[in-house]
Amino acid sequence: MKKILFLFLSIFSWNLFANFEVITLGNSGGVVVGTTTSYIIRDIKSKFYLGLDAGSTVNGLEMALKKGNFKDIRVPEDSKYTKLGYIFRDSIKGYFLSHAHIDHIAGLVMSSTEDTKKNIYALPSVIDILEKNVFNWRVWPNFGDSGEGFKLGTYSYKKMEVGKEFEIEETGLYGRIFPLSHSNYESSVLIIRSGDEYFAFFGDTGADKVEKSDLLRNVWKELGQKLKDGKLKGIILEVSFPNSVEDKNLFGHLNAKWLIDEMKVLSEYSGGTENLKKLNVIINHIKPNFLKDSNPEEIIKKEIDKENIYKIKFFYPKSGDSIIF
Ligand SMILES: [Zn+2]
Ligand SMILES: [Zn+2]
Repeated sequence: MKKILFLFLSIFSWNLFANFEVITLGNSGGVVVGTTTSYIIRDIKSKFYLGLDAGSTVNGLEMALKKGNFKDIRVPEDSKYTKLGYIFRDSIKGYFLSHAHIDHIAGLVMSSTEDTKKNIYALPSVIDILEKNVFNWRVWPNFGDSGEGFKLGTYSYKKMEVGKEFEIEETGLYGRIFPLSHSNYESSVLIIRSGDEYFAFFGDTGADKVEKSDLLRNVWKELGQKLKDGKLKGIILEVSFPNSVEDKNLFGHLNAKWLIDEMKVLSEYSGGTENLKKLNVIINHIKPNFLKDSNPEEIIKKEIDKENIYKIKFFYPKSGDSIIF
């Protein structure tokens, strides 16, 4: 009887508890092609990933392979593809696109000729731009299933409703999308659920106080209780610029100061600043430059360290790094 109970409990908790693997494929906010925002995520019980933006998909997968990741993924013997090709084509089962800026979609567009059929989940505004301005036979052939001219149909556009949960096919994951303000432009965040645990991926966003918006606050309301309950495993959030950049020049992005200010808002919904210690944050989208005596990554890291009065756990993974949360 005890054995049966144990078995039951382990099957039960197997479904309830999730560990997410997040592989960074690209984490910059521009300048160098093949380094810009893209991640893949899976529940480690699954072999299938969801792409989170796609600025530099294949370059990042190559780095991840070089760093010894994907050990549990076996290319079937009858497959004619390399391991890199197999992972790109068959292990990634769909993409979430936070917005259609080129640093978030370039990898997907460039490699679309080699991709297999999959879903692109996004807010309608993002899909509209892909249809009209990207996959339109002028910028690139129409790999979508709607829009202009002949439709190659590699990608099924899934226009998602704000806040409504949907299944991310073949991954065991579920998602909900909320809009973000990115300087008069709609960006978005995906809250991912597996069982009873969560991970959130934020597209580019400014601080509410700068953007004169309450969209980030709405997301903190969603995530606060989950953090309090220990069910929010982590988030990916942008910090694009050092604190020296004036608010009017942030163009819908965060700096260290505004990041910590937003964390304070999150704490209003997560039972106080004490619970922020439980939060894991991957810092994304640092913008490189060509200045001789300035390394934005070092500056931003130092500024975040200095401002981090709440002892939040910040991560700065490089392309190809895998972290399990
Ligand atoms: Zn960007
Ligand atoms: Zn952007």
